[in-house]
Amino acid sequence: MALMTPRARVSVRDTPRIPGILRALAAVGGALCVALTVGATGAAPSHATPESPQQPPGQPSLEPQQPPPAQPVPTPPAPPEPPPSESLVLTPPVAPLAPPPGPPVAADPLSIGDAAVDTTGGWLPDGVTLSPFDVSNPILSQLDPALLRAVQDAARAAQTQGVDIRVNSGWRSKGFQQRLFDNAVRNYGSVAAAAELVAGPDVSKHVTGQAVDIAPVEADMWLIANGRQFGLCQIYANEIWHFELATDQYGNCPPLLPNAAG
Ligand SMILES: [Zn+2]
Repeated sequence: MALMTPRARVSVRDTPRIPGILRALAAVGGALCVALTVGATGAAPSHATPESPQQPPGQPSLEPQQPPPAQPVPTPPAPPEPPPSESLVLTPPVAPLAPPPGPPVAADPLSIGDAAVDTTGGWLPDGVTLSPFDVSNPILSQLDPALLRAVQDAARAAQTQGVDIRVNSGWRSKGFQQRLFDNAVRNYGSVAAAAELVAGPDVSKHVTGQAVDIAPVEADMWLIANGRQFGLCQIYANEIWHFELATDQYGNCPPLLPNAAG
């Protein structure tokens, strides 16, 4: 029994130690396999967990002291650089041909602007004028053809004298004219006051395509002096920009009305 004891000690001490190292190495190898598997697939298989059979319960784990070397995870190739956005740089901005139709604005029906932005309303942004030959715009294309022809003829004649005739209003839809009138009522306090400055939709010659408003003032003055040769007359004393075909059979314009209210 005395001889057996050291052997037993050796057996007890050493024999488990070697398999223990092997197990530890196996565990490290398993961890490497796991790391390689993770690196290769990006997802660890479910069996490669710390509770795997390669690591019996009770065996001190080496992983906390020796974490498996981090395997470089293959990074996917960087996506190609997007090409320079030549379309944004080289494509000229597309000029809006006409504002898109807009729904009626119920919240503020009196406002001028977005509520009146539609393709047939006759609205132009502030400061924008049209060539008398820009017949793509309904402001001109829906004018009385005789009036449009007269304005174009006058523009050609004025051009020879260095005067540029521009149109800042022509045909207007009845709804747009109503908005103009309602806005004037709001701004000037009464229907009577508004009517001196803006004709109502039922009487405005703009709605019927029989009136144009001309800019700039130099062009207004040229037309006041020369418009009758083309049948064009100033109608209202307080609107030097507003012209209609109004000459009589002798080529004379009628007496001026004081304002749109008559
Ligand atoms: Zn007018």
